[in-house]
Amino acid sequence: MSRVTEVRKRGRAVFVLLMGSALAISVGCRMAEMSPPPSHAMVKRAQMHMGTLATLTAVAPTDGLAQEAVSAGFKEIRRLEGLWSTWMPKSELSRINAAAGRERLAVSSETMVLLVRALEAAQMTDGAFNIAMGPVVEAWNISKDSRIPNAQELEHLRPLLDVSAIQLNEQDQTVYLVKPGMRIDVGGIGKGYAADLVAEVMRRHGATGGVVALAGDIKTFGDLPGGTGFPIGIQHPRRSGVVLARLVLRDEAISTAGDYERYFEQDGVVYHHILDPHTLQPARLCQSVTIVAKEGVWADGLDTGIFVLGPERGMALIEALPDVEGVIVDADGKVLVSSGLQGRLQREP
Ligand code: AMP
Ligand code: MG
Repeated sequence: MSRVTEVRKRGRAVFVLLMGSALAISVGCRMAEMSPPPSHAMVKRAQMHMGTLATLTAVAPTDGLAQEAVSAGFKEIRRLEGLWSTWMPKSELSRINAAAGRERLAVSSETMVLLVRALEAAQMTDGAFNIAMGPVVEAWNISKDSRIPNAQELEHLRPLLDVSAIQLNEQDQTVYLVKPGMRIDVGGIGKGYAADLVAEVMRRHGATGGVVALAGDIKTFGDLPGGTGFPIGIQHPRRSGVVLARLVLRDEAISTAGDYERYFEQDGVVYHHILDPHTLQPARLCQSVTIVAKEGVWADGLDTGIFVLGPERGMALIEALPDVEGVIVDADGKVLVSSGLQGRLQREP
């Protein structure tokens, strides 16, 4: 039997499954039992970073190497947080936002890649994914005791949501936000890309396999315990602590965007954190979207945009993209599974 401990952080459910001696974690998506292959050590540690629980698991030939890989992974998370946190006034992203309408800034290659991918995701989702949503995200400031911003206030911000006014120069690695007041928010893609970069650092430090889990953004890599891949559970969007479906990941990333993750309720209506750039209101066509991709940057970047697009356009996009699969729970709770996951996904009764 498994023991389930639930922790709530910003409304997001985190499950820690303790099964015998093997320990596993999950967030939005959850990971089942793991044990190291013979002659391999497995180390798993969790810390709070990026406003959420970060859990790193490393498999390596020795315990020392696995420990080192995990420590290096956490160091990388702290470095990336220093680049992208909007809570830190000196982060690259805060400086880019503060320079809006004023100054072009040189940025790190990691920030440049993140912003290039974000603009690609905007194009792929026909503008449903929009990192220029910062001012609207702040106006809603979704948390337990938020208020509903009025329509006039939101409309006033609309001109700032113009992704074409985000100027990226890849040659000289500079960024310029053309309109004063513009603010970039990478909350919908940053953790997925961070998971990719952290996994790479862990690999460089001797991990032959492992998992990086930053809230609902999970990246798996390399040789897996027992050589069988990493079993992951997808959270049921309406039944806290219940798994909707399971699948096994191999060198893949998985990310879930859900309306249950951060929200407040007023007069019986739920207002959540995934906002539609057209209506400037919470997107209403899905309960959750889970994307499986080779890279975390795509899994995370696409889950948010596809949530906004809704089940029909969203599933059509998933089917059109190579190496991208997904599970969409629509507004009525109907579960749609992409063709590449048929036969791989185990639905729970
Ligand atoms: P995720 O959990 O990946 O769906 O990301 C949700 C976060 O992305 C929100 O908390 C906002 O910070 C940001 N966000 C909300 N709506 C959008 C949108 N339409 N496009 C891009 N980012 C968004
Ligand atoms: Mg996302």
